[in-house]
This record gives sequence, structure tokens and C-alpha cells, in this order.
Amino acid sequence: MAGLLDVSAVSRYYRNGVTALERVSLSLGTGEFASIVGKSGSGKSTLLHILGGLDRPDSGSVSVRGIPLDFSSRKALVLHRRNTVGFIFQQFFLIPTLTAQENVEYSLIFQGTPRNERRARAARLLDLVGLSARSSHHPSQLSGGEQQRVAIARALAGDPLLVLADEPTGNLDSGTGEEIIALMRQINSEREVSFLVVTHDPELAGQADTMIELRDGRIRE
Ligand code: ADP
Repeated sequence: MAGLLDVSAVSRYYRNGVTALERVSLSLGTGEFASIVGKSGSGKSTLLHILGGLDRPDSGSVSVRGIPLDFSSRKALVLHRRNTVGFIFQQFFLIPTLTAQENVEYSLIFQGTPRNERRARAARLLDLVGLSARSSHHPSQLSGGEQQRVAIARALAGDPLLVLADEPTGNLDSGTGEEIIALMRQINSEREVSFLVVTHDPELAGQADTMIELRDGRIRE
């Protein structure tokens, strides 16, 4: 697989003396589906936040297609979040006052996508996740699995190279979780978008091409 992401010796220390990550190195190919596992406190969220441009490492580097991400530039981080990555969270984090369609369209406003194109793209993505019939529903009118489908459509709206998911099945019953895993894998293979998924779910971790285990902020070989 061609290289998408290269993480080299990334460390992150919090002011309270906690070492959240210690010289973490990994690489991810284009179209690869990788899981990150490890006990609570092992550094999984910190790593995901750094890769998503939401936090900065204290040392080390992150490169996308060979180009180092400039963590000192706010603009570079905004562009990274907008163009390179999409996020999926355990708690869905949909905007309650917006419909499913509007939730997917919303992030495209900041990209300057024209209104008609936003609509068309959101409709296509809701179709992809099997929710065309629910596009005018608000999150409170949707089941957990349906909300996570909307969140997946939203994560794809900016046409990312990489989807970062933090416990995407953590709030779902096992049957619904399996459907969400199958959907992510389908999107991964059809669209060649890479996935990096933090999970406690053995079913999900086991389906990944690669499993990365963190222990006390270090990669376990
Ligand atoms: P995980 O996602 O695997 O549960 P985290 O990345 O959230 O692990 O946390 C790694 C370590 O860093 C933990 O010891 C945690 O308490 C600590 N930590 C996380 N965020 C902060 C923060 N903002 N300030 C101080 N310590 C933090």
C-alpha cells in the first residue's frame, strides 16, 4: 500500500508530568484499515488528537503523503482538519437542531462549497450510509445506529484521505455495532479512504488489516 501517514517518534508530555505518548512511530498505507487498542490511559485519544491536528506533539513528526504537518501553523492545522481527515466519535456529536441532511452539509459551509453542491453531496453520502429515507429527521428522531451513520456521512463530506474514529461502536448494542463496522469496511474498500479506529471492541479490532497496541504511551511490538 502506498504511504499515506508517517508518524515518527511522536512524544506528548502533559504539564502534570504525565507522559501520554513516548516516541510513537507508525505508518499507514492508502486504503489501510487499522485499529488502535490499549487500556484506558494508554494514550490512544492523545494520538488520535495529534493525528487529527487537534493537539500538538512535544517532539517527533507526522507526515501526510511525505509532507510534514507543520504543527506550529494554525492555518496548516485548519487545512489538515478540513481536507485530510474526517472524525467519528463514540457520542456521535450531531447538532441536535439540524436535520440529518443539514448535519452532513454543515462542515461544507466552511469549505466554501456552493449550496447546491453541498446539498447534492450530502444526499449522496446519506444514500451511501443507507439513510436517504431519514434525511429530514433530527438526531433525536434517529436510533443510535442511524445517528452514527449520519456521523459517518459527515466524516466523509470533505472527501478525506483518512477517517479517525474514537470508539465508534462504544455506544451501540453489538448487532448495531457490527452493522457500523461493516459499513466502515465497505466505505474503506470502495472509496480507498484509510481508517484509524480506536476501539475496545474485539470484533472491530479483529477485522482491521493492522492492529496497533499502545501500552503506557508506547507502541507494543
Ligand atoms: P486513552 O485514550 O488511551 O484512555 P489518553 O490519551 O486519554 O488515553 O490519556 C493518556 C494519559 O494522558 C493518561 O494518563 C491521561 O490521564 C493523561 N492525559 C490526557 N489528557 C490530559 C490532559 N489534558 N492533561 C493532563 N493529562 C492528560
